[in-house]
Amino acid sequence: EVLLQAEGLVKEYRSSRWPAPALRTRAIDDVSLEIRAGETVGIAGESGSGKSTLIGAFCGLVRPDAGTVRLAGLPLYRGRRFQRELWRSIQLVFQDPYTSLNPAMTVAQNVAEPLLLWHREDRRDAESRARELLDQVGLSGPLVERRPTTLSGGQRQRVSIARALAVDPRLLLLDESVSALDVSIQAQILQLLMDLRAERELTQVLVSHDISVLKLFCDRVIVMQHGRIVEECAAADLEPEL
Ligand code: ADP
Ligand code: ADP
Repeated sequence: EVLLQAEGLVKEYRSSRWPAPALRTRAIDDVSLEIRAGETVGIAGESGSGKSTLIGAFCGLVRPDAGTVRLAGLPLYRGRRFQRELWRSIQLVFQDPYTSLNPAMTVAQNVAEPLLLWHREDRRDAESRARELLDQVGLSGPLVERRPTTLSGGQRQRVSIARALAVDPRLLLLDESVSALDVSIQAQILQLLMDLRAERELTQVLVSHDISVLKLFCDRVIVMQHGRIVEECAAADLEPEL
């Protein structure tokens, strides 16, 4: 079963610096890709090759200029609009959890927030559900009453994973989500993500510049260069020098 299908995706950024002519960057250039349900796909490539733009197009963060993206057959964009009801099914975890966590809320409140917004749950129910999710990602006790700023980088990343899982997504997009962490913490977070994959029917896409991480974590890897897919292979066949 194909979960995500991208066809002919193009995204150009224009920066007009008057009086100079507008500069155009083709961040992604005619990208087509299929991801099957349950698969874990890695996206590799140099900085600036279009990786973040591509997964941005998979979740409504970047509206493509041309092409289509479908989730289980349903188009993510209709005309200029991202289909809001699909947003829940696709969650993005950033490199820096500060991007997605609210510093004014406790850890438990951060994880409960999407439940309140999307399921209109009672606050008490949402927070107890949040505690279950946090327990699942290895966080419990007084720690969940603290603010995200008082946690370690690895702990914060666990919170943002719990928050992403709260709405029960089908597709988890990970944009360099472990890159900023110490190697031993990276391994713990990757293991957590692999456990979640087995427990839930969760399809994962990981952007990483780290070939050893991709080899360990993914079934299949695509390599991007200048906005195009230049290679696609089983993760086991990745050349270490890439
Ligand atoms: P990667 O994730 O592989 O580093 P990006 O998708 O971030 O690549 O960027 C692809 C290209 O698009 C780069 O040349 C980058 O400078 C450009 N780019 C990305 N975001 C923007 C933006 N918001 N405005 C203008 N150019 C951008
Ligand atoms: P990491 O190396 O994983 O990024 P940090 O340097 O962020 O870890 O934190 C190291 C330790 O210090 C962690 O145990 C964390 O809980 C604690 N810590 C970090 N910032 C604060 C803070 N503002 N208040 C209390 N404890 C903190």
